[in-house]
Amino acid sequence: MTVIIGLEIHCQLTTRAKLFCGCSTDYRDDPPNTHTCPTCLGLPGSLPVLNRKAVEYALKVGKALNCSIPEEAEFARKNYFYPDLPKGFQITMYDRPLAVDGYLDIEADDGMEKRVQITRVHMEEDPGRLVHVGSGDRARYSLVDYNRSGIPLIEIVTDPDLRSPKEARRFINTLRTTLEYLGVFDGEREGGLRVDANISMEGGNRVEVKNISSYKGVEKALTFEITRQRNVLRRGLTVERETRHFLEARGVTTSARSKEEEHDYRYFPEPDLRPLRVKDWFDQIVLPELPAARKLKFIENYCLSPTHGATLSGELICANFFENVLKYRPENIKFNQLVATWIADTLLGELNYRDMSLNKVPPEYFRELMEVLIKNEITDKAAVEVLRIMLDEIFHNKNLEDPRAIVARLNLGKAGGSEFGPVIREVVEANPAAVKDLRGGKNEALNYLVGQAMKRTRGRADPKELARMIREAIRLKEAAT
Ligand SMILES: [Zn+2]
Repeated sequence: MTVIIGLEIHCQLTTRAKLFCGCSTDYRDDPPNTHTCPTCLGLPGSLPVLNRKAVEYALKVGKALNCSIPEEAEFARKNYFYPDLPKGFQITMYDRPLAVDGYLDIEADDGMEKRVQITRVHMEEDPGRLVHVGSGDRARYSLVDYNRSGIPLIEIVTDPDLRSPKEARRFINTLRTTLEYLGVFDGEREGGLRVDANISMEGGNRVEVKNISSYKGVEKALTFEITRQRNVLRRGLTVERETRHFLEARGVTTSARSKEEEHDYRYFPEPDLRPLRVKDWFDQIVLPELPAARKLKFIENYCLSPTHGATLSGELICANFFENVLKYRPENIKFNQLVATWIADTLLGELNYRDMSLNKVPPEYFRELMEVLIKNEITDKAAVEVLRIMLDEIFHNKNLEDPRAIVARLNLGKAGGSEFGPVIREVVEANPAAVKDLRGGKNEALNYLVGQAMKRTRGRADPKELARMIREAIRLKEAAT
């Protein structure tokens, strides 16, 4: 049974002021209702004044999503009553959106590139936020916070082109990266992205799952909904056309209400705002480098593997960090590849483990560590140790030592063979059984002996060099007996 998914994605734009008034959008750490004015409180007599920057951001999004721009776009009133909407209507766009008919290429389930059509992009204002006091259905009362009221949103609507929850998640990730590259969106902001998903089995009724507010939530909600719809069909029943809510904590969707029809909203053109004629403006917009171009540059100019190219370009801060470490000198291919490997395979994991953001790590320190490593002054194992010490220092807000100082302080520099002579003799003496196995041709015994020697040299010696020295010591011992 083919699964058919279309998405409506609401993203908060990172303008400094709200969409129709001068109130600051930077409200997240502030007390409720401190970023408000008569306009975003919907008081009688207040009028909206359109934020030019928000239009510019929305146009950038339209351009990056390969849309075209109709001659005129128009704001409309969507009328409904809800306590988070003090005007009794939301200013949005209805039949005359800002941008239409675009596309975004993503990686499909089979690993091939897939083009997802974008139906439309339009602008609207965010409503306020209700805080329910008490839990779920048993909340005793609700509080309303209008700090969010009037934050500029764009809504991006896709055609029903997606075929699995994983694909939907990948679409959202690709979109997020694109918007971050444009500098119009901050994916780390709590509540900055909300998704409504339309989902049906081929030939069946469409169900809308509302207000999914996390990246992981999209995949979970869709997976649950597919199983639910399949079970309904298996019992010989029909899937109702309805709106459902996703309860993130329980990972389930529940029936909300029968879906309103569009005419219930009594849309009409917003009389307090002029139509937008922005086609010329749109044509003049120059986009920054977008993720696909950066990935290509990483692979072709910096000679990274396609996997590393995708990983490092897949997040703006990661891509910037990588290039800052290289200092825009991409001619040293070996160094580029070393840095890419260490960021992708080690650094990101260590950060994840500490729940730290990459932008806390000064690129010049990481660069120095990579230089020490490529000059063969320390082993891989010692480099991991130095990196962990640096990250712990950053995590605990201690003075950050430079990598060379850590290497010197802990005596982690790669040591020459002669220094390890006594250690090797000790290991050979202490493990007669393994030595005997090795002499009998069991090569895995050598790994064991090298491991023992590594332990005693605290990872400062090159394992290959140790192996050579162990064989040599055994040969000498044999010759002596
Ligand atoms: Zn305001």
